Amino acid sequence: RKRERNIASLLRERLPKEIFTLLTDIGELGRDRGLAVYVVGGFVRDLLLHQPNFDVDLVVEGDGIAFAEAMAKAFHGRAKSHPKFKTAVVVLSDGKRIDVATARLEYYEYPAALPTVELSSIKMDLYRRDFTINALAVHLNPERFGELADFFGAQRDIKDRVVRVLHSLSFVEDPTRILRAIRFSERYGFRIGAQTERLIKNALQHNFFHKLSGARLFHEISLILGEENPLSCLRRMQQYKLLSAIHPLLALDTAKETLLTATDNVIKWYRLLYMEQAPRIWLVFFLGLCSGLDDEQFATIANRLGFTKKMLAELGSLRHAVRKTAHRLYNWEYLKLPVSELYFLLNGLSLEGLLYLMARNPKESIQKHISLYLTKLCDTQIEITGEDLQIMGVEPGPRYGRILRAVTAAAVDGVAVSRERQLELAGRLARGEISDEPPVWDAPEA
Ligand code: ATP
Repeated sequence: RKRERNIASLLRERLPKEIFTLLTDIGELGRDRGLAVYVVGGFVRDLLLHQPNFDVDLVVEGDGIAFAEAMAKAFHGRAKSHPKFKTAVVVLSDGKRIDVATARLEYYEYPAALPTVELSSIKMDLYRRDFTINALAVHLNPERFGELADFFGAQRDIKDRVVRVLHSLSFVEDPTRILRAIRFSERYGFRIGAQTERLIKNALQHNFFHKLSGARLFHEISLILGEENPLSCLRRMQQYKLLSAIHPLLALDTAKETLLTATDNVIKWYRLLYMEQAPRIWLVFFLGLCSGLDDEQFATIANRLGFTKKMLAELGSLRHAVRKTAHRLYNWEYLKLPVSELYFLLNGLSLEGLLYLMARNPKESIQKHISLYLTKLCDTQIEITGEDLQIMGVEPGPRYGRILRAVTAAAVDGVAVSRERQLELAGRLARGEISDEPPVWDAPEA
C-alpha cells in the first residue's frame, strides 16, 4: 500500500492554536473510544488551498451520535442528534458548531458497484460527496494524526485547479451539484473538468432540474448570491442556460446585467466601509435578479423556489418599498428639502433595500444621498426620551411621537445636537411655540 501524505505540520502551522488543539483532543477521544475519526470536506480542501476555513466537519467510523455525545461531555458542550441521518451537531461552550457524521458500510446505496471488500467506510463516505476536491479526509487519531485519506485524486485536482465529479451519475443523483460546481469553480478560479462539463450539459438536456424541490434550489442559489463574485456565477449559469432552466423569467438580459453589475459595485463599495451591520448580500442580488418582474411574475418565481407565504410577503413588500422610496427620493431632491427629511425617508427601509435602491438608481446625486444616509445620518440618536417629555408635563399621546420626531429632525439637520438644545427645543414644541406638525411634501405618485 502506498505511503499516505501526512499534513500534521501543515495543520499545526496554518490553523489557529485553539482549532489545532481541538482536533488533537478529538483524535484522542477517538482513540479512547476505539474509533477512527476524520476531519473532512471543505475544511481540508481550504487547508490545502491556504484559504481560511475553520468549519470542522467530522466523520466517525462507528456510531457518530454516541461520539458526538462523548465530545459534548468532554468539551462541555451540547450535542443535538438527528438519528434518521445518524448525524449530530456538537455546540461548544463558545458557540462553535461541529458537525459529526457516521460512516458505516451497510448504510450505503451503491456498494455493489465497487469491490466492497477493499472499502473502508470512510472511503464510501467520501465517495458520496459532490466533487473530488471535497472528498478528502484527515485522520485525527494520535497514531495516524494528519494522514491524508485521498482515494479519488483530490490532491492532484486541487493542484491542477479542476472541479471534477466522482462518478458519472453524480448530477442525476443530485442536480444541485451543477450549481455547486459553478460556485466552487468561480470561487477558486478552477475550471470544470471536460467530462464533468459534458455531464452537466447532459443533465440539463434531460431537464433534471425540474424534479428538484424549490427549497433545495433556493438554498444553492442563495449560496451563489452570497459568494464574493455572484455575478460571474450568474453569467456562467446563463451560459449553461441554467437560469432559464430554473425559470425562463430568471434569464439575464442586458438591463438585468447592467443592474447586477451596479449591484456588484454597490456591495463592493459597502464592504470597504467596514460597517458593523452586515447585509444579507444574497437578498440584494436576488432583488436584482428579479428586477423587471411584476408582482405576479415575482410570485411565480417565489413559488418555484419554495418561498413560504411569510417570505413572499416580506420580499414583496420590500420590492414595493424600494420603488416607493425611489420615487420619493427624486421628489425630495427636486424640492430641496432638509436632510432630516432624507433621514426619515430612508429610515423606513432595510439595509438590503437601501443597497438595492442605490444600485437601481445610477444617478450620481441620488447615490450620494443614500451614501450620506448610510455613512452618517443613520446613526443619529437624540439624547432625550419620552421620559423627559413626561417630566415637562406633556400629556401622554400622539404628541410624544411628533415632538420627538421634530427633535430628531433638528438633530439630523445639526441645529440641536446637544441634550440641552434638544430639551430646550422640546420645551418650545411642548408649549406650542413652534409647530410639531411634520412637513407634508409628497407629490402624487406618477
Ligand atoms: P463552503 O466553503 O461553501 O462552506 P463546503 O465544502 O464546506 O463549502 P458545505 O455545503 O458546507 O460545503 O458542505 C460540506 C461538505 O458536504 C462538502 O465539502 C461536500 O463534501 C459535502 N456536500 C455538500 N453538499 C453536497 C451535495 N449536494 N452532494 C454531495 N456532497 C455534498
